[in-house]
Amino acid sequence: MPTPATLLTIDRSALAANWRFLAGQAAHGHCAAVVKADGYGLGAVEAASAFLAAGCTRFFVAHLAEAIILRAGLTERFPNAKPSIGVLNGLLPGEQAEFLAHDLLPVLNTPQQIADWQPEHPAILQIDTGMSRVGLEATEFDALLPDLRRRNFGLLISHFARADEPQEALNRLQIDRFSAAMQQLPGVPGSLAASSGIFLGPDAHFDLLRPGYALYGGNPVPGKPNPMQRTVTLTTPIIQVRDVEAGRPVGYGSRWHAPAPARIATIPYGYADGIPRVTAGATFWLNGKPAPVVGRVSMDLITLDVTALPEAVPGAQIEILGPNRDIDTAGADGGTLGYEILTSIGRRAVRQYIG
Ligand SMILES: *Cc1c(COP(=O)(O)O)cnc(C)c1O
Repeated sequence: MPTPATLLTIDRSALAANWRFLAGQAAHGHCAAVVKADGYGLGAVEAASAFLAAGCTRFFVAHLAEAIILRAGLTERFPNAKPSIGVLNGLLPGEQAEFLAHDLLPVLNTPQQIADWQPEHPAILQIDTGMSRVGLEATEFDALLPDLRRRNFGLLISHFARADEPQEALNRLQIDRFSAAMQQLPGVPGSLAASSGIFLGPDAHFDLLRPGYALYGGNPVPGKPNPMQRTVTLTTPIIQVRDVEAGRPVGYGSRWHAPAPARIATIPYGYADGIPRVTAGATFWLNGKPAPVVGRVSMDLITLDVTALPEAVPGAQIEILGPNRDIDTAGADGGTLGYEILTSIGRRAVRQYIG
């Protein structure tokens, strides 16, 4: 087998520590784990296993197909655990039998989905409190209340639109709308806070926290120090080094010219591996020393200025994500979010689990 070019190392102990930390923030109640999009790119079954071993018993994914894979993977590894798995995107026509066969909970988002689900079976209800994306409208909730009260809902959920902006008035409004809805469904526990919502304080917590991003090491409090542990390291080897004279152009479109004689290292990583092509001003690292990205990001290659790094030789490992470059920085460099960086890491990166 060829030596893997790019290695994505995922630290199970850091995942577990992040879940324990967030669960410890819960004002009351419990903490779930959102493992949609293949565990934010890190492997849903692996990530969920780390959270489950740390004490997590409730999981969420986006799609039914993701839930079926997660159920099979967790049953194989933890035959006696029987964690709950909720499907955020809801119930499509004809899916009830599949949900029941795999012991999955649909998040019912519309009157039609509620009508399509037999009332005696357990389910989760979602209401919209300010995002206008999925979940019942307030008018629909009021109209359906007599029916909703007869149903077997184990949880009421809603989702913050701006929890990463704690000063925004919409957060308070969403908390108040959610509290009012909960009072209409006595005995049904509630869940509103995802990663950033947890840090809005106890009023936002209700009965179940529902983090995703922060579990994987993303900063839930942008602009403040990240309380989470890093879970991923992404490295790739230098494949070629060359000396270039002052003024020589590097890369597509000749967008960078060496300002002085320089050494350029090429690495086998590009936008096909998930780094945004627009990434600008980024710095990768070699042995903790900066190796700035120069020239355009290609599909499979990136060029680095390693003039100051004598150890930059073919085979030397370049840190793309790691202690010196976190996922939030990578998102900012690429004009996006760490969420998109994590979920875009390509299949060419070999996943390796440690811890
Ligand atoms: C994705 C998602 C979450 C987790 O959000 P993070 O910001 O990643 O913590 C929680 N709830 C719902 C409904 C989601 O769609």
